[in-house]
Amino acid sequence: MAKYIFITGGVLSSVGKGIVTSSIGKMLQVRGLSITAIKIDPYVNVDAGTMNPFMHGEVFVTDDGGETDLDLGHYERFLDIRLPRENNITTGQIYKAVIEKERRGDYLGSCVQIIPHVTDEIKNRIRQVAEKSGADVVLVEVGGTVGDIESLPFLEAIRQMRIEEGLDNTLFVHVTLVPILEATGEQKTKPSQHSVQELRRIGIQPDIIVARCSVPLEPEAKRKISLFCNVPLEAVFTSYNVDVVYRVPLILDEQGMGDYIVKRLKLGNRTPKWSEWQSIVQSFVEASEAVKIAMCGKYTKLTDSYVSIVEALKHAGAAVGAKVSLKWVETTELEQDSRKVKVLEEFDGIMVLPGFGARGVEGKILCVKYARENNKPFLGICYGFQLAIVEFARNALGLKNAHTTEVDPSTPHPVIDLLPEQRMVREIGGTMRLGLHQILLEEGTLACKLYGARVIYERHRHRYEVNPDYWDALREGGLVLSGWSPDRRRVEFMELPGHPFFLGTQAHPEFLSRPGKPSPPYRGFVEACLKHGS
Ligand code: GLN
Repeated sequence: MAKYIFITGGVLSSVGKGIVTSSIGKMLQVRGLSITAIKIDPYVNVDAGTMNPFMHGEVFVTDDGGETDLDLGHYERFLDIRLPRENNITTGQIYKAVIEKERRGDYLGSCVQIIPHVTDEIKNRIRQVAEKSGADVVLVEVGGTVGDIESLPFLEAIRQMRIEEGLDNTLFVHVTLVPILEATGEQKTKPSQHSVQELRRIGIQPDIIVARCSVPLEPEAKRKISLFCNVPLEAVFTSYNVDVVYRVPLILDEQGMGDYIVKRLKLGNRTPKWSEWQSIVQSFVEASEAVKIAMCGKYTKLTDSYVSIVEALKHAGAAVGAKVSLKWVETTELEQDSRKVKVLEEFDGIMVLPGFGARGVEGKILCVKYARENNKPFLGICYGFQLAIVEFARNALGLKNAHTTEVDPSTPHPVIDLLPEQRMVREIGGTMRLGLHQILLEEGTLACKLYGARVIYERHRHRYEVNPDYWDALREGGLVLSGWSPDRRRVEFMELPGHPFFLGTQAHPEFLSRPGKPSPPYRGFVEACLKHGS
């Protein structure tokens, strides 16, 4: 039978609940337990796919094509696991299912209510994940902040689960913020006290408090939290600022959190095996050679929009001894004055980021052109890859006004066009080409060398692709189409021989990158940047 750990958040959102959840998983994983993790998102969207990454952060894509919350990315990276789409539960999914059941007549005769129908649906889904995964421990992170109207049914459901599953099989962890007053330097625990009061009002008494604070909690602050939040002193931990995010499980475990959880959930005597994780963390610390990368995109004001890419670059850096420093280049700004593209001069490498729609596109194309003409290492992901094809068509092949039909449906040269199976698609939600797909790499190409394999699998999220009518022209112009879908009717990778490093892919390899196991294209790119810099 699975044990459940429920993680709630107080005071503010974005206090790092996802990292704490992942870290709890790591502490248990190194103690020999198998883990799965669920993220609950209390918004009415069915999935994250229809949300602007600028509002909500990156959309994380799973193997089975789920468009999920970015916290699933944290879980996958920390735990080196692969999660299915069911591990992201939203209000939209719950209500959709309950309403469909009501229409079918499944509840015939009853008045359908939040308690028990909605809460039952929530509990069933959590238990289904437990069953399907067969994990020893199921982590359930409840998004949002305690006190939000929209998270109430979820909190009620986990409250019920404590009774139903039993005290030894459930654990409530509450993550709060402890601010430090600038004037006095004092660590303030009152917001944490209030948020625990709020939790208790709905019937949940946390077992563990994790305080997010820039520095370790003072004994006095810890004592206050223990007293007012009604948890034992040894159940108060601090998630303080660290140099490398992957160190968080180590600092929590040093404070005794892993042992405390194992004891509390009666998981037996377990000695943690940290050595492998420690050496991964160490590789991030030791990576010292500075590499400057320009991140060209349009959601650059919120770096969470590209969190998997940022992490993939860091993983790659740690593996090759490079400390990557990323600078966001807002491509809409380059469009107003194309001379501004000169800002790219100072960088060792240029990334053109994924995206949708027309805004910032001409700026992205300028960035590709700069990288191609100035021999700067270039990596284009998804939209970045498509726009590199557009750039090449326009400037190397002389196809005037070549474009993607996503931006210009009446372009004379639609080098990027809708996938044929997309032509009939009417609903936007969940209908892109999504998830893990096989890719065949051409022998002897850069892509093949980087992966060290002919057959690979990467995750995808796109509606458009390279138009087959232009394959020959692109090849004649010198571009190598180096990766294909298994039926060979879809381009997955392209590269430019003779350039130090010019690679684009329709896929999103960043979703499979892990600390200690960097994604091959990212690793190759950062290595090329290192060379460029030295
Ligand atoms: N907008 C492009 C498409 O739909 C690229 C998507 C992306 O970058 N994820 O194909």
